[in-house]
Amino acid sequence: MKYDCLVIGAGLSGCTAARLLAEADKKVLVLEKGRNIAGNCHDYLSEAGVTVHTHGPHIFHTVYKEVWDFLSRFTSFRLFQHRVLSYVHGMTVPFPINRDTLNAVFGENISTQDVQEFLKQEVKNSDFKVPSENFQDAVVCQIGERLYELFYKNYTIKQWGRDPKELSADVAARIPVRSNRDNRYFSDKYQGIPIGGYTKMAEKMLDHPNITLMTGCDYFQIKDNLGSLYDAEKGITVYTGTLDQFFEYKYGNLEYRSLDIQFKTVDKEFYQEAPVVNYPNDYDFTRITEFKHMTGEKSDKTVICMEYPKQTGHPYYAVLTKENMEKRAKYMEEVKALEKTGRFIFTGRLAEYKYYNMDQAVKSAMDKVRGVL
Ligand code: UDP
Repeated sequence: MKYDCLVIGAGLSGCTAARLLAEADKKVLVLEKGRNIAGNCHDYLSEAGVTVHTHGPHIFHTVYKEVWDFLSRFTSFRLFQHRVLSYVHGMTVPFPINRDTLNAVFGENISTQDVQEFLKQEVKNSDFKVPSENFQDAVVCQIGERLYELFYKNYTIKQWGRDPKELSADVAARIPVRSNRDNRYFSDKYQGIPIGGYTKMAEKMLDHPNITLMTGCDYFQIKDNLGSLYDAEKGITVYTGTLDQFFEYKYGNLEYRSLDIQFKTVDKEFYQEAPVVNYPNDYDFTRITEFKHMTGEKSDKTVICMEYPKQTGHPYYAVLTKENMEKRAKYMEEVKALEKTGRFIFTGRLAEYKYYNMDQAVKSAMDKVRGVL
């Protein structure tokens, strides 16, 4: 049988595209090179009875009602507001920086009305360029050098393995600064963790009579022998893998930052007081996640993970430096030309080389599939 569409990769982007194409009466073949589906949001129930995120903490949050409604067809969500603490000066304080953070760190008693004035003084005593063209300046112009050095500088060096001045200001835009006592990590209207997990949600997304899933199947190994299953000249190809690989690295390699994630089962009910504690200035890992805070599961044991950033390995993050963005622009010209034919879609974190959150990945796939249909 010939398929109408080929979806390369069964992560959140691939699952979204496959489902929407299938619902538009297309016969869809999904190829996944790994053994698992759900990509970097893969999770599983550990022996401790706690659901663990294989590739580090994934908290779903969105402002897009259509994305929330779409995923809610395949899972219910445990409504959950993510909270993060940062370990500085030997204590854990709320992060993103809010009024309580400032009072704890500086031993002050600043009121909500006075936070902006306090930060203004911090900024006044700092050195930076406007408009901010890099991560460091984008943070320092909001909170000044002292707070930048305490909370951002070393975390960013650890996470990205480079000088924060080499990174785009866009990375800084992910983290707000608050004058009030709001200590949520995200302020989006819709936030939650899929009950039963992301993998189950992805399974449901792919569970459609028009979808065939093949795991352990590397597109690049078999692409020249797909003829009997799929005709790339006629069908719609959805690519969600790494952007540079599709074009055989013709403009050079794009960097994808990777992580070593170490999991530990701890023989006590809770390990730490928050779902995530960041360690900007201590240890080689960036943060410790304790999953049961997110899932609400009950167990005598708890599972934590530590993330050790590294340069190579399984791709997690696009690295937003000037050099990578210039390469990306060249690849995106090729993407544009292919997408213009209406027979190709490049979507997701890896294929668009973007620092997408999960909802943005889903949204991109939704928009692009709609575009070709
Ligand atoms: N960041 C930081 N200190 C922190 C948390 C984040 O400097 O305590 C910076 C760091 O550069 C990080 C970026 O903000 O890569 C984005 O953080 P986020 O928590 O969104 O990262 P993710 O969860 O996507 O790894």
